[in-house]
Amino acid sequence: MKAAAAPPRALLQAWDRKYLWHPFTQMQDYCAERPVIVTRGRGHYLYDADGSRYLDGVSSLWCNLFGHRKVAIDQAIRRQLARIAHSTLLGVTHAPAIELARRLTEIAPSGLAKVFYSDDGSTAVEVAMKMAFQYWQQAERRRYRARTSFLTFTNAYHGDTIGSVSLGGIPLFHGLYRPLLFTTHRAPAPYCYRCPLNLSPESCQMDCVGEVESILRRRQREIAALVMEPLVMGAAGMLVQPAGFVKRMRELCDRYGIFLILDEVATGFGRTGRMFACEHDDVRPDFLCLAKGLTAGYLPMAVTLTTDRVYGGFLGRFGELKQFFHGHTYTGNQLGASAALATLKVFEEERVLRKLTAKIASMRNALGSLNDIAWVGDIRQAGLMVGIELVRRKTSRKAFPWKARVGHRVCLEARRHGVLIRPLGDTIVLLPPLSITRAQIHDLVAAVSASVRAVAKGG
Ligand SMILES: *Cc1c(COP(=O)(O)O)cnc(C)c1O
Repeated sequence: MKAAAAPPRALLQAWDRKYLWHPFTQMQDYCAERPVIVTRGRGHYLYDADGSRYLDGVSSLWCNLFGHRKVAIDQAIRRQLARIAHSTLLGVTHAPAIELARRLTEIAPSGLAKVFYSDDGSTAVEVAMKMAFQYWQQAERRRYRARTSFLTFTNAYHGDTIGSVSLGGIPLFHGLYRPLLFTTHRAPAPYCYRCPLNLSPESCQMDCVGEVESILRRRQREIAALVMEPLVMGAAGMLVQPAGFVKRMRELCDRYGIFLILDEVATGFGRTGRMFACEHDDVRPDFLCLAKGLTAGYLPMAVTLTTDRVYGGFLGRFGELKQFFHGHTYTGNQLGASAALATLKVFEEERVLRKLTAKIASMRNALGSLNDIAWVGDIRQAGLMVGIELVRRKTSRKAFPWKARVGHRVCLEARRHGVLIRPLGDTIVLLPPLSITRAQIHDLVAAVSASVRAVAKGG
């Protein structure tokens, strides 16, 4: 059977402007630019209807793992489709969700024994937050019921629903919504290039840990959990934490008896060189939130993993009303679960993690060539997650006025060099699929280099 031909490009462009509202996008500007209309993908490339080809430099927003049209995953979805696309997990069950839950508990840090499904990163975080809250509400000791708030970091990003925005702290995105949000206790996030404590990483004693501890000391009675993105704070600008920081957070949570919620929506599934970022510090969280890479970038699906201890706090007779009152229509979708199972199989069969070491080193080498560009202030890398912070003056680290949209202009220029990327403010993000080749890493960085130089020359 032949698919119906898509309408011609010019018509699609007109309809896009007429009918579509794009996320995180000033539509007035967007409508003045020529959009990329992705009609197909193959491997690490995306193709526009006009014949242009782009290297997928941010993994279609941080989720694609093995390129597009990966045969093993295409086939797994097709096989599942021949049986059934979706059935609910509300009171009934199915094999893909069962097998995936079992596999995830095998590969996750030990102690994470239960899997709760949802649909995106935001919901995975909401689930962890509500579970932690409800656990303390149902605790035997009355004084634990005062644990109703959360300890979070400045510039954190945990998604766009009201709960996850409350935990987040990016003023530019979230400031407006303040009246709708609940407040959290907020510690300064480690950002060594612009240290909030004005210290330098060579000489400091990770004093930012002390800030977290001082909040805990004062507020321990009311805090349910510490929520953080381990190792790399993605949307904040790919801020890489100093080695050992996550471990120190685990120790503090243990000392004060609160939960540690790790949001690995971005860092999970190999992005940092290990399956999960918390493995670098050998940390075992009480909650682990996963989404983006879970289905290798194929289908929306998320999970929240937690411990038997937390799960046990929700058991009781029906009339006690201790069950977790949360669930989405497409929770544990059969197609999504099949794609995720196939994803984990690819990790194993193709030894994906083992092959990453050489790619990460290639990336580091290639990035070194950017250091002599006047605008390149800081280059941050953890595995295949990269942030290149552009500044007006290297010596003073002075930023560009954000309205100048320097990052955006560089990324538009990069399209002319065959690369599709999306910045975070003036931080250029590179986050290629794990299967990217060393030659393509070189192409990607070369395109960024040429684009920064071109924009710098132009203005
Ligand atoms: C993307 C992201 C989220 C939100 O995930 P969605 O699927 O967009 O809801 C949450 N946390 C982190 C760390 C993320 O990078």
